Order: sequence, then structure tokens, then C-alpha cells
Amino acid sequence: MITCPKCGEQVVPAYREHDSIETHGLECGPYERWHDEWWECPACGEELSPEDLDRSV
Ligand SMILES: [Zn+2]
Repeated sequence: MITCPKCGEQVVPAYREHDSIETHGLECGPYERWHDEWWECPACGEELSPEDLDRSV
């Protein structure tokens, strides 16, 4: 459990990940692909930084 810095709730951080492909409107590229991973507060949706997670209780 951590205390969310935004809403102040005591929550279990929720892990999120997302794969994205940006084609810039062209079928044959160039395109960019990236993978995002982050933790967020399930109560308010705030993205949690590593510092926030370090303050877990
Ligand atoms: Zn929150």
C-alpha cells in the first residue's frame, strides 16, 4: 500500500503497460514503436513515480 500523492488515498498501485505504433499516416513507414510501462493510482488514475512507490508503507 502507498499513499497517493494526488488524492491521498491508501491504495495498491496498479501496473499498466501499453504498446503503441505511430505510422504518421504512411503505410510503408517510417514508423515509431514504443512500449510504455507505468504504475498508477486505481482511485484517481494518477501516474505514480518511482519516488512515490518508494514511500510505500
Ligand atoms: Zn490517487
